[in-house]
Amino acid sequence: MNKSIKMGLSLTALLSVAGAGWLYSSSIHKADDHVHYHAGFTVYIDGVKQDYSDYKYMNFVPCSEHDQKKSKAEEQIEKAHLHDGVGDVVHVHRSGGKWRDLFKNIGVDLPGDLPILDQPIEPDSSVVITVGTPVENPDKVTLEHIKEVEAKSELCGAN
Ligand SMILES: [Zn+2]
Ligand SMILES: [Zn+2]
Repeated sequence: MNKSIKMGLSLTALLSVAGAGWLYSSSIHKADDHVHYHAGFTVYIDGVKQDYSDYKYMNFVPCSEHDQKKSKAEEQIEKAHLHDGVGDVVHVHRSGGKWRDLFKNIGVDLPGDLPILDQPIEPDSSVVITVGTPVENPDKVTLEHIKEVEAKSELCGAN
């Protein structure tokens, strides 16, 4: 073995150690504030059920890449967003996400004073938000549907 091969080997070893250290510190960061859970929601405005399944409401960043971003705007998006053309199950990737964050992020300004918007989004919960006319027997997203979306989501994977 000549000298240059030996040097190459020790450089590779050094880089692997640096890589392991980086992975370690990023998993610590993940444990701090990176979460991934889902919740269901239905919105009625004056008795009309709203549909948020249009592509304009969707987030196209794969969930697995969410924790690589850094900007404030991206942190805000992480708190609550929609994927895969599903308009009634919210994806939460950052602890502290509230219902207000979802509507802010999808660009929907719900009229009136809605205390629910300041509630944190609880994992596997299902809320019905009614604006104006009360709704008798509103549709409510089932836990079964939430789990189905969770299992099928192309962008979420199983993480
Ligand atoms: Zn996501
Ligand atoms: Zn998800």
